[in-house]
Amino acid sequence: MSNIVAIVGRPNVGKSTLYNRLTETRKAIVDDFSGVTRDRHYGVAEWLNHQFTVIDTGGYVANSDDVFEAAIREQVDIAIEEASVILFIVDVTTGITDLDDEIATRLRKSSKPVFVVVNKLDNNSQVADSMVFYSLGLGEIYSISSMTGSGTGELLDEVVKHF
Ligand code: GDP
Ligand code: MG
Repeated sequence: MSNIVAIVGRPNVGKSTLYNRLTETRKAIVDDFSGVTRDRHYGVAEWLNHQFTVIDTGGYVANSDDVFEAAIREQVDIAIEEASVILFIVDVTTGITDLDDEIATRLRKSSKPVFVVVNKLDNNSQVADSMVFYSLGLGEIYSISSMTGSGTGELLDEVVKHF
């Protein structure tokens, strides 16, 4: 379990869709954790002869904005602790939200490699909309469609270089 890729981001950006795509045909190695890890899913993925663990985060309890944000903050902090690489998923159809900004601020303080993954780029007409995500201040952006799989190969080519 030395190569760990954590998928973080606010709800509904497509984290679980990406997780399922990366781990498809492979069964989750660990399913139920207690406490704070209850809503994390661990699966195995493979790319270019590299095996790695993928962690999906989410399933937040959205009783109030405070609980919501605290839960996301906690997931991001755990990811910063345990991951080799962090995939920060954002949504090209919504642009940058306040929660995205908050997560980005936390991630900028991490020394772990962070990939800004602009999801839901299902067609090329959305490329111009993706440019705004450079302003998160986390470097290069990687545009993908978790639904079709487009762009995920280019992303993984770069991710595995950090193993
Ligand atoms: P999560 O809350 O971040 O785990 O997001 P989900 O993976 O549950 O996805 C939220 C919604 O976005 C679902 O309706 C997905 O079908 C949709 N979705 C995820 N990836 C894509 C994508 O690449 N393109 C489009 N158009 N929708 C997507
Ligand atoms: Mg999810």
